[in-house]
Amino acid sequence: MTPSASHQLLLAMHRELNIPTDYAQRTGLPFFDDVGLSELVVAQLDEAGRPLVLTKEAAQALGAMRTAATKEGIALLPFSGFRSYLYQKGLLLGKIHKGISIDEILKVLAAPGYSEHHTGEAVDITTHDCPPAEEIFEKTPAYQWLIARAHDFGFTESFPRGNPHSLVYEPWHWKFKAT
Ligand SMILES: [Zn+2]
Repeated sequence: MTPSASHQLLLAMHRELNIPTDYAQRTGLPFFDDVGLSELVVAQLDEAGRPLVLTKEAAQALGAMRTAATKEGIALLPFSGFRSYLYQKGLLLGKIHKGISIDEILKVLAAPGYSEHHTGEAVDITTHDCPPAEEIFEKTPAYQWLIARAHDFGFTESFPRGNPHSLVYEPWHWKFKAT
């Protein structure tokens, strides 16, 4: 797909989802091209048996980080990696169908085109006995381990408390090679 065709698709998605036209300026989030499929690999299967897809480099780094954590008794359980524009749209639609307003949705999900998950280098992580994508993850030993060690493997927390992107605090979201 050419960049302009991809961009047209994205504009149509934004109209359909009623994303404010000043979304990019308002959030300061960068635009991410959908990463080429040839760069992606199945890093592992997640706890639900679904494929976790990342770039090859991010998959290797995640594997090394999980191995190091496991040796210290910490279970890092990834539950979301690469997401296409279309997949991101589906996540937003799911919340729209639950009657949640687009303004509320955009506090917890980036608009298609603006999610770090499009790069194949972002991964959402939970641990045993912790619901995925919940702030309570910050209270777990797994999060404390990530804060101390993730940098050694090239991972950075993207959306700390009070981040400038109008997104909620996401202690579960880590990006390989900070944007
Ligand atoms: Zn995420």
